[in-house]
Amino acid sequence: MAKILDGKAVSAHVREQVKAEVEALAKQGVPVGLAVIIVGDDPASRTYVNNKKKACAAAGIRSEEYALPAETTQEELLALVETLNKKPAVNGILCQLPLPAHLDEKAVIAAIAPEKDVDAFHAVNVGHIMIGDYAFLPCTPAGIMEMLRYYDIDIAGKNCVVIGRSNIVGKPMAMLLLQQNGTVTICHSKTRDLAAHTRNADILVAAVGIPHFVTADMVKAGAVVIDVGMDRDENGKLCGDVDFAGVEPKASYITPVPGGVGPMTIATLLKNTVTAAKQQNGLL
Ligand code: NAP
Repeated sequence: MAKILDGKAVSAHVREQVKAEVEALAKQGVPVGLAVIIVGDDPASRTYVNNKKKACAAAGIRSEEYALPAETTQEELLALVETLNKKPAVNGILCQLPLPAHLDEKAVIAAIAPEKDVDAFHAVNVGHIMIGDYAFLPCTPAGIMEMLRYYDIDIAGKNCVVIGRSNIVGKPMAMLLLQQNGTVTICHSKTRDLAAHTRNADILVAAVGIPHFVTADMVKAGAVVIDVGMDRDENGKLCGDVDFAGVEPKASYITPVPGGVGPMTIATLLKNTVTAAKQQNGLL
């Protein structure tokens, strides 16, 4: 039986810390503000944005939403980013991805001022992460690292296998595990004999986007299994990339979906927004 890595509980702890910091900053005359941009009416994006706004409100962070129609042009979106870059009351800017297909995500990310890039997607922030000298970390991988720390899970010397190499999850996840002295393998859709790699993992992170992709035969006994997936099963129910029922008896620790990685992602966004406010006010 694996121990459950309870993202809800750990994130509640982080959010309490953030709330206390936001209160302390308010007393110093530094209110904390986040601007959230959403383009179009994708229901999943709407849910994520609502959750982020709710979490901001609970932590005392002022959030302002910019809900733009699906037909917004690249120029209009870039003009909004530019306005927010210059707005002192906005410490962090988040543009909910994915954007409608006619918009250039890379250009939008590049337009966000790096010091307000609380998702840590801008090339400048990605570069800082590579050299291990950073203010912001991307929310999902950083949230996972926080959870591993909270449960005293040692990474040094461990075989860490990350399935997925996206810029927002897989690649930065691998880098953070490497910084903590893990021996890291990154797998992807062209990896040969994936299971041979995953069976060697002491820490296995699945960020694939395919429901129940990781099955018990792919997991080493006693492994720590982190499920990043936010997928829908054949009945439309939220599930992860890991076949939880099959893998849980074999793992030492495992994250559930929901209630694992997802809440940590939001908690890290709040942390990053506070960091941005401190940095912009010379308090770091
Ligand atoms: P993504 O950009 O679609 O990347 C998926 C990765 O999985 C790619 O690198 C792909 O390889 C790899 N892959 C696909 N099929 C594979 C296969 N058969 N074998 C091995 N690797 C395979 O997805 P993402 O944005 O990283 O997200 C991954 C999952 O995490 C999704 O379910 C997403 O909803 C979820 N997510 C959750 C949170 C959270 O807060 N919990 C945050 C972000 C994302 P190639 O590069 O070769 O195509």
